[in-house]
Amino acid sequence: MLYIYIMENFINKKKKITKNLSNVSKNFYKKYKDNLVNRNCFICNNKTSTILHKSHTFYNTVQCEKCLSQRIDPIFNEETLTIFYEDKDCAFSDSNNYYKEITKLLINKFDEKKYYDEIKNDIKFNHYFKKMQKVVNYIKKYPENTFNILEVGCSYGLTLIILNKLLENIDKKVNIYGIDLNSEANFILNNKFSNITIIPSCPLNKLKEKVDIKFNLIMAFELIEHLFNFQEFIKDINELLTKKGIFYFSCPNGQSIPMSDSCDNNLSFMQHSLSPPMHINEFNPRNVTLFSYINNFNVISIETKGKLDLDLIIHSKLDKNSKLNNWKDLFLSLEPKQKDTLQDIINHNLISSTMEVFIEKQ
Ligand SMILES: [Zn+2]
Repeated sequence: MLYIYIMENFINKKKKITKNLSNVSKNFYKKYKDNLVNRNCFICNNKTSTILHKSHTFYNTVQCEKCLSQRIDPIFNEETLTIFYEDKDCAFSDSNNYYKEITKLLINKFDEKKYYDEIKNDIKFNHYFKKMQKVVNYIKKYPENTFNILEVGCSYGLTLIILNKLLENIDKKVNIYGIDLNSEANFILNNKFSNITIIPSCPLNKLKEKVDIKFNLIMAFELIEHLFNFQEFIKDINELLTKKGIFYFSCPNGQSIPMSDSCDNNLSFMQHSLSPPMHINEFNPRNVTLFSYINNFNVISIETKGKLDLDLIIHSKLDKNSKLNNWKDLFLSLEPKQKDTLQDIINHNLISSTMEVFIEKQ
């Protein structure tokens, strides 16, 4: 079956991707070291910072002296970051291909429930369904009959096609838009559904030139930690939303247990809130609240609802001085039921590694 084939490929190549990424990054730094630029705090724009960690010859992990947010500094300028993400040898191109295949499958089999059920029950994909179900619940409660929604960084449209599936029996006109820097983003989905528009090669600050529309909800998943200019981004989000419009996003939680110490090296970059040149901004519940306030948003909810925090630490090779060693010993000694309870406590206290946030434009 095509789906099984894709999944097997996915798992095998994912291992390769993780291994390759650190080498790719190192070589990239050497090649483009003249394109590194310093920057102010991405949350409060303060200039002064303290060096926390000299992680690499070319960059530091620094902490803003005013709001305490952590970031990578210096970072590559925007043009160079684009070269990194578009590089065909970059490990991302492999990763993109699986999402492309899954998206193709779901579009071609849109009327067949079984493919959606299969992917819905897969641990790597079920979070898309959970997120889109939240969006659908929001749309259902919305009083007007027309609803405009945008995903920033939609890739080939996997999330949007899942959303469209979940909207099948909803009696509202929902116009779905997606933008992505990828020049082929609309390649698979375009014209297949009259209510979905994907605009390729489109950063957020160019969207106004292409469509004159305000959105009731904008979403961006695992995106903001990558952004060169977050302050400009959040201003653009505010401008594109209707009054009381929602910005729904997810990102790593830098204040989580797995990210609280140097359990690097053996974890994939996805498990680090700061992992340059990809992850350059560290978010946590505290600075999310702060940037919301600065940019005229009300916080509706901040949740960290991971499932794998204990396993992440159990399976990582920690530095012998890491304070996480004590945690690891504790986690290893627990029964499955105790582990579940501890994970619940971690989630409840907002120290799990994945963070989901709803904020509302004032
Ligand atoms: Zn700051």
